[in-house]
Amino acid sequence: MNNTDKIYNLAVAGVQQLIPYKAGKPIEELERELGLAQVIKLASNENPLGPGKKALAAIQAALPTVALYPDGSGFMLKQALAEKYAVDVSQITLGNGSNEILELVARAFLTPELEVVFSQHAFAVYPIVTQAVGATAVVAPALNYGHDLDAMLQAVTEKTRLVFIANPNNPTGTLLSQASLERFIRALPDTCVCVLDEAYFEFVSSIDSINSIDWLNKFPNLLITRTFSKAYGLAGLRMGYGLSSPQLADILNRVRQPFNNNALALVAAEAALTDDEHLQQTVTVNAQGMQQLTDGFKTLCLEWVPSAGNFVLVDLKQAGLPVYEALLRKGVIVRPVGVYELPNHLRISIGTKEENQVFLEALTDILVNV
Ligand SMILES: *Cc1c(COP(=O)(O)O)cnc(C)c1O
Repeated sequence: MNNTDKIYNLAVAGVQQLIPYKAGKPIEELERELGLAQVIKLASNENPLGPGKKALAAIQAALPTVALYPDGSGFMLKQALAEKYAVDVSQITLGNGSNEILELVARAFLTPELEVVFSQHAFAVYPIVTQAVGATAVVAPALNYGHDLDAMLQAVTEKTRLVFIANPNNPTGTLLSQASLERFIRALPDTCVCVLDEAYFEFVSSIDSINSIDWLNKFPNLLITRTFSKAYGLAGLRMGYGLSSPQLADILNRVRQPFNNNALALVAAEAALTDDEHLQQTVTVNAQGMQQLTDGFKTLCLEWVPSAGNFVLVDLKQAGLPVYEALLRKGVIVRPVGVYELPNHLRISIGTKEENQVFLEALTDILVNV
């Protein structure tokens, strides 16, 4: 270790060991690297239709105001969310993406003596926020790619202060039933905060419809997180929110930065909430694209994990990384999931009909020529 590297020894222990989150490759980066002109990205579960017209108009209208600090309380957006979901504004925490809410809850509740329970193959941000504050991650083995709630409950001890559940889960797309989830939350000790990450809530079909907000009155230790990054098509603006008891929201709001949400994100999210047409179209295009991709997998004799989200995990029955790289060379960015202990899978975000077609043709070409 040379002199400049000694600075690493000064970082807190968890950070010294921390492996940063690896995001999907940006389109511009691949275009630069390979000199390709037509790159498509099916790697970060973004909305292939883009933002809705109402959000765009709100952003346009707010552009001249960006010299001013945003409303740090997010008054208007909180009003709109409170109305839509029939909660009180005191139950809402706004975050710079819902990732920030995950970080706030870790910072507010964890110390190096405490433990956090989450599932194998669960969202990669849970271990990062846990490790950054020096707490101990306890990973419960997955069941059929999804959360095994019994195994998770067994992993809970008197040291467990936080439990993370992604429903649907990323990257597997698995969905837990509302009944099993409610039973799980009820069985948790009241010394344990339960984070229910519903980043893909809007994609869940009405048959399985989610009623987790009804539980907020019963469980003061429940935090639901949702986002404008996925179905609402505003990932680049960074806007997410938490719903919880007023007391839990108060705690999270104490640790957040005073202006954690930017002015454009606030107005765009508020407008997006009123754009039912765009949301409906998004959900429809997603369902059609899911069918298109899984039909394509069937033709290629590939298996996939049935998904409730806007992405699908496909089993290549061979190492995923070389196929990922071959797809890159054809201008298609998908997501390798080796860090999720799924080395033979790739996660494909559902794109437009044309994007899905380009991807399927590229994949067919690669698998037939390997
Ligand atoms: C994408 C995602 C998020 C959050 O994304 P933000 O852009 O920070 O709101 C949270 N949880 C899961 C499971 C996700 O896939």
